[in-house]
Amino acid sequence: MEEHFPSMIKKQCEVCKKTDDLLRCGGCYTYYYCGRDHQTSDRPTHKTTCKTIKGTKTKVEEEEAKLHARVADDDDELPSDVLDTGRLWAFKPARPYLQALFEHGEILVRSWRQQGIEDALTIYLKLLKLNTVDNQAARYLVPALYIRLGKNQEAYDFLKGWGLQFRGKPEAKQLDEPSKAYLHVKNADATEEVELWTGSRFLDLAFVSSLQLIKVRLLLGLQHLLQARAELPQGSPMPPVREILADVRGKYCDDILDRMPEIFADDASIVKKQGELNEQLKELFIAVDKYNKHFWPMMLQPEERDFASGSQMYTHGSRQEAHLAFSQTYPAWCETPMAIGMIRAAVTAASQE
Ligand SMILES: [Zn+2]
Ligand SMILES: [Zn+2]
Repeated sequence: MEEHFPSMIKKQCEVCKKTDDLLRCGGCYTYYYCGRDHQTSDRPTHKTTCKTIKGTKTKVEEEEAKLHARVADDDDELPSDVLDTGRLWAFKPARPYLQALFEHGEILVRSWRQQGIEDALTIYLKLLKLNTVDNQAARYLVPALYIRLGKNQEAYDFLKGWGLQFRGKPEAKQLDEPSKAYLHVKNADATEEVELWTGSRFLDLAFVSSLQLIKVRLLLGLQHLLQARAELPQGSPMPPVREILADVRGKYCDDILDRMPEIFADDASIVKKQGELNEQLKELFIAVDKYNKHFWPMMLQPEERDFASGSQMYTHGSRQEAHLAFSQTYPAWCETPMAIGMIRAAVTAASQE
């Protein structure tokens, strides 16, 4: 099924796929062309999307201007430093601005264009700064966007920061700053244990799905490396990870594996790491399956490709909850060659145990 899935489109001319000297569409700032000719010829196809993106962007600008005007006007409801309080949602007149940002982000993600994904990520991170409590649940969208951009380490760091924060781990208290929505972790070990995510009654499905995808990508990356080792002539040195994974850049975690040379000392260490990751994935499957029985069947056999995020209101364990996490993370899975197949195999194996 996943082979028909629209993969994220890199920055390239919409018509001839040229990748350099591109002209950015001045309406939506999301699509690219090699020049005026191809922009003009693509206009009939692009027009509706362009207008939609431009529309939500204009809305953001309007709401932002309104907010600034009210602040400048010494509005009783809005302190002059309201944009720096980190709790913008608490000020009702500011909510339309936050909502406009969120909606613009959603439209950008649905463009399936790299530029759209990059800009959406910037918007969601901005929302987390403007309103650290994150009433809009922007945090659940962030890891999958990082992953789609090949920034697997940043995705993991983000997940870990929230994990520590949410579970109230001592490390989180230490670094607690009211100006931050979550703990800003750097270069955490993405191959580590998963207890942080499974050891609680509630699971953040979108987070766990993103975490699983990072681990699946690591496993696939290791598989490639093992294969590359086997094909090397006797005694020749192992080429750099980035070189081996060049054809799948970003998709198999070369950004993470590149910094773990100790794993590649010999075949045995690679196999050992694979074993650990497999165990962790199994733990995560079981935890998800126990928590929400709809999630994995939906990921493996999506009946309808409905990526509208729908309602943020759901009960734990419900189909709506599963669907929300599905819409937030499934595109990232589909853009990882072989990932869904790997999950399918693992789920089948788990059900036969
Ligand atoms: Zn072109
Ligand atoms: Zn456009």
